[in-house]
Amino acid sequence: MIFPAKNGILKSMSYKFTWPIYGHQNQLKYLQETVSQNKLANTYLFYGPRGLGKKMVVDYFVQSLLCQDQETRPCQKCYHCRLIKKNTFLDLHKLGRNEDLSVENIREFLHKLSLSNVSADKKLAIIYGAENVNLFGANALLKTLEEPPRNTTIILIADSISNLPATVISRCQLIKFQSLSRDDMEKWLDNYDFGQDEKKTIMNLSFGKPGIALDLMNDNLESFKKSCNFVIKLLSSNTFVYMNTIDKWFEILKKEHPGFKMYELGNLTEQYLNLFEVFLRDLLWIKLDRPVVNEVYHKELQDLANQFTAKKLFQNLISLSKIKTKLKYNVSPQLLWENLLLSVK
Ligand SMILES: [Zn+2]
Repeated sequence: MIFPAKNGILKSMSYKFTWPIYGHQNQLKYLQETVSQNKLANTYLFYGPRGLGKKMVVDYFVQSLLCQDQETRPCQKCYHCRLIKKNTFLDLHKLGRNEDLSVENIREFLHKLSLSNVSADKKLAIIYGAENVNLFGANALLKTLEEPPRNTTIILIADSISNLPATVISRCQLIKFQSLSRDDMEKWLDNYDFGQDEKKTIMNLSFGKPGIALDLMNDNLESFKKSCNFVIKLLSSNTFVYMNTIDKWFEILKKEHPGFKMYELGNLTEQYLNLFEVFLRDLLWIKLDRPVVNEVYHKELQDLANQFTAKKLFQNLISLSKIKTKLKYNVSPQLLWENLLLSVK
């Protein structure tokens, strides 16, 4: 809320902000000032790679804008905050969470937005996954951005803006998100109960993206450890056991996903190939006396390293990157995994 001060200059409120968000300091400062001054742009475009917490920042921004408390934003207690929590706040519209961003869906959404009443002093609309809007959808959107409904602010969230037309981008206030620093990641990870080795590994593998870290952490690293054990088995076994393991693995994958095309099966194995790469690189790092990424498996890596020369590991990494490219071109993934053995062993 803006109140005229005695000298006639508009004065902004100084709220206490309770956003449990790590990193993105400049973006948060800008958005919180926007809330304090209650001076909104017509359109915002929050963008940056997946996993950085853009949606969470938008949630707190929007809730702080609509919250009625005079001190803390968002208070989580006022009438508006409670409605937002229950997802029943009439002035908050959302598209792209449960439906695709087809031109029909966009048109219908914008039409409803233009007709809806404002019960608070502003209407807010969030469009998720804006990187998936096609040219027709973007054109529909552009019309609204050029003549926005009264008191309405549209927030687009996109993992990338390379597909969005410049005409749309130029209408938006851009809020760019980047990976968190190691410091911020460390502070954030301190909220979780993991050992030092585990924290370091999570940090090394998530590249400053809390979303990736959460994927790793959501089952207490169980699936990560299972995958690591699988890769260690492949790396340490002889040709016969390796071939058998691959055979059995693909038998299970085909049974679990009947009718899957080659590349779809390949996609299922891609994360293992990525982990295989992490292992090969770590083995090379051990040979070169450099710190490893996967601290949790430091001991196993040291044992494994005796089986390889640095030169062999370097060659393996090159073959692996070629295999990763082929995986996208409908080559039998099982054949690729078998080829991997030929180059690794
Ligand atoms: Zn509130």
